[in-house]
Order: sequence, then structure tokens, then C-alpha cells
Amino acid sequence: MNKGKMLYEGKAKKVFESENPDLLIVSYKDDATAFNGEKKGTIVGKGVVNNKTSNLLMSYLEKKGVPTHFVEQLNDRETLVKKVTIVPLEVIVRNISAGSFSKRYGVEEGIVFDTPTLEFSYKNDALGDPLINEYHIIALKLATKAELDTIRDYSFKVNEELKKFWAERGVTLVDYKLEFGRLPDGTIILADEISPDTCRLWDSKTNKKLDKDRFRRDLGGVEEAYLEILNRVTK
Ligand code: 5GP
Repeated sequence: MNKGKMLYEGKAKKVFESENPDLLIVSYKDDATAFNGEKKGTIVGKGVVNNKTSNLLMSYLEKKGVPTHFVEQLNDRETLVKKVTIVPLEVIVRNISAGSFSKRYGVEEGIVFDTPTLEFSYKNDALGDPLINEYHIIALKLATKAELDTIRDYSFKVNEELKKFWAERGVTLVDYKLEFGRLPDGTIILADEISPDTCRLWDSKTNKKLDKDRFRRDLGGVEEAYLEILNRVTK
């Protein structure tokens, strides 16, 4: 499948037309950003790790009944995906306190919740992706009530399946961000990526961070952590 015109270049991926108008080619970059683009850098090999990890996780979820945009991995960095209109929401599920949750509520990292939490951010770089509630989402017509119900159900289903998947590989799924899209007929499917860029993943024995927090917080060993995740995911 040949790449056509580039349609979009984001912080971590480029998106190209494919030979099929219903499908796009996503190309994963090594560029890394954090804090709404304020911190920039490169994580060598990240594009390969994220491409392969996301594809394995999406295929796994698809088998478990969560529809995704994944079609076919083309090479180490490129994947064929279904074309969707992205719902402009970041859906964040948390099992353990960390990151902005800890900061916002003044609690330490590592509190294991009895039940997972779910929150939405409005995907809008100019506004810094503010938190948004379901009433505001509906008022702004970002998604309908029915779409939100579907998104919530899929997000928790993803949590149940991925918690198990990672636990079998000695990794604790702390939190993650999902994005959803609409197919031309309106069907909601999981889109974007699921990778160490978009999840917090801790080694189950040591709680060592194996995700983008190593880059965000200058913890060192960033490339090694990404490779470790790829090793475990392919186990
Ligand atoms: P937090 O809100 O604590 O910063 O992030 C919660 C989870 O969502 C983390 O796993 C984080 O990686 C992911 N996440 C939240 N916002 C973004 C974002 O804009 N980009 C990426 N790649 N991940 C995000």
C-alpha cells in the first residue's frame, strides 16, 4: 500500500492518504513532547515501539469486542487504519493516583482506587486540553449522550482487558488516555494509539516507571523503558 498526500502532522505521528479512500496510513515518529508542547525531545526508536505496541493492543482489544481503527501493520513505523472523524475528547481512565490527578487533589502517587475513575479533557491545544464534564460535552455538541455512553462502556472494557493483559506481563496499568472516532455511518470506534506515550505503566514488582514519565520528569533510561515495554508486550 503506497502512501499518498500527507494530511496531518501531529506531535508524535504523521497521517497520510492511502490508495483506499476509507483507510489512512499512520506513521509514528521518534519526536517526543510534554506539557502541551513546552518540552521537546527525541526518544530513539519510540515510533517503532509505539507502532508495534499499539497494534498488538488494538488487535487484542478487537478480539475482546472493542472495535478499533486498526487494519494492518505495514512496516515497523507505519500502519493502515480506518479513516474516522476524531471525537475531540481525551478519555482518561485511572486505576492508581498519579500525574495530574495527584497534583490536582494534593495526594501522593500510588493510591490504588477501589474502582477506576474516568474523566474527559477537551482536545484543544490553544486552551491546554481543559477538563470537561459530560453536560459541557453535550452542550458544546462534541458528542451525543448516546456516543458518551458507548465511549464510557468501551473505556472501562478496555481497562478490564488491558489490566489483565499487562498483569500477565508483570506490568501495572496505572492510567491511560484513549481517543475515539466516528466511522462515516456514525459508529464509534477506538482510534489514535495505546502506547507508553499514552499510558502509565509500572513494573509490577518494583513500581519502576516504564513509560513517558521517564521523559517528562527527566528520569533517564527512556529508550530502555520503551524497549522493555515492547519486549513484554510481545511475550
Ligand atoms: P495526566 O492527566 O495524569 O497527565 O495523564 C493521565 C494519563 O493520560 C497518562 O497515562 C498520560 O500519559 C495520558 N495523557 C493525558 N493527556 C495526554 C496527552 O495529551 N498526550 C498523551 N500522549 N498522553 C496523555
